Amino acid sequence: MKIPQLDLKAQLPSLREELIRAITDVIDSTQYIMGPSIAELEQAVARYTGVKHGIGVSSGTDALLLSLMALDIGPDDIVITTPYSFFATAGAAARLQARLMFADIDPRTYNLDPGRTIDLIEGLSEKERAQVKAIIPVHLYGQAADIVPLLEVTALSGIPIIEDCAQAIGARYSRDGDVVRAGSLGLACCYSFFPSKNLGGIGDAGMVVTDDDDFADKLRIMRVHGARPKYYHHLIGGNFRLDTIQAAALLVKLPFLDRWHRERQEAAAYYDQHLNGIPGLTCPQLTYPREWHIYNQYIINVPDRDGLKSYLAKRDVSTAIYYPVPLHLQPCFDYLNYRKGDFPVAEEAAERTLALPIYPEISHEQQDYIIGAIRAYSNA
Ligand SMILES: *Cc1c(COP(=O)(O)O)cnc(C)c1O
Repeated sequence: MKIPQLDLKAQLPSLREELIRAITDVIDSTQYIMGPSIAELEQAVARYTGVKHGIGVSSGTDALLLSLMALDIGPDDIVITTPYSFFATAGAAARLQARLMFADIDPRTYNLDPGRTIDLIEGLSEKERAQVKAIIPVHLYGQAADIVPLLEVTALSGIPIIEDCAQAIGARYSRDGDVVRAGSLGLACCYSFFPSKNLGGIGDAGMVVTDDDDFADKLRIMRVHGARPKYYHHLIGGNFRLDTIQAAALLVKLPFLDRWHRERQEAAAYYDQHLNGIPGLTCPQLTYPREWHIYNQYIINVPDRDGLKSYLAKRDVSTAIYYPVPLHLQPCFDYLNYRKGDFPVAEEAAERTLALPIYPEISHEQQDYIIGAIRAYSNA
């Protein structure tokens, strides 16, 4: 049996015709730039998140960059985030020449640890504290990060929280007993519709959603080079537009999203049931009910990660490492002067985590094969 880490072909039979129709409609309309599908998708995704505004953009990376640009972040500012994420999270701040600061992650969830983040802020000099212009928590792998303690701190200081929700569209958390979607509590939430996310386009696409009218307006203006009206520029933006064809494709897929989440949750429960108890192996740890985790990835933690990975590869099971090098140890960030040992939890996660195959259509037969191989490895 050959099992990919993600099988996008498995969803094609149910989508192919509708996707082709949607794309053909865009072609025939000739409204290739900012066509009507964009506003329709923006409203649908904003409603899905539980906020007022959606601003479709060219990618998840650009959603982050545009959000930070709209906060006027620049060389005198500090941006705090996790050292354990996809590069784009930190890259967006670095591209604006902001000073990056990291706080270590929670060893159970791999998400930014709110306590350590607050300690970091409290340990700053008064001058530095005034320079903190954004905190970017990432809802990694599909499980909401605990940002409630951060919201309490930032409510006093006014520091905006930009949620990197690229892997967690539809995930949930709770605040004061209210259950809400990840991305609805910060100033803005950045989605990626990269094909491997739970809601993936047929190419690059992303969106910023926000409840803040003024921020939404600024994002919309900066998305088109800061122009309003066209050719009159009060702000310096860029071309961050979402492609109409991507919006049309995403509108075809959006109605399936909750079902896909459920199927991923079922697959995760099946893994949990059969992998729990294997010596040394830790399954994903839930901080909320399972239905709040959208399992963009199913991550196990094992001491001999690289050995297990190559053992599975020899049995045609593809796995992935997210992420082999924490951000503070990336060569491009040498100038930040972090060193090995600064964020031990992130460093250990980078050595021990492995993403098993997960997608809505994965079958029990496929999972049994993977589980059998992991058991065989651990008994060897
Ligand atoms: C995918 C991803 C991004 C970037 O999204 P793109 O659409 O690929 O630009 C940013 N942050 C995280 C955590 C991601 O997983």
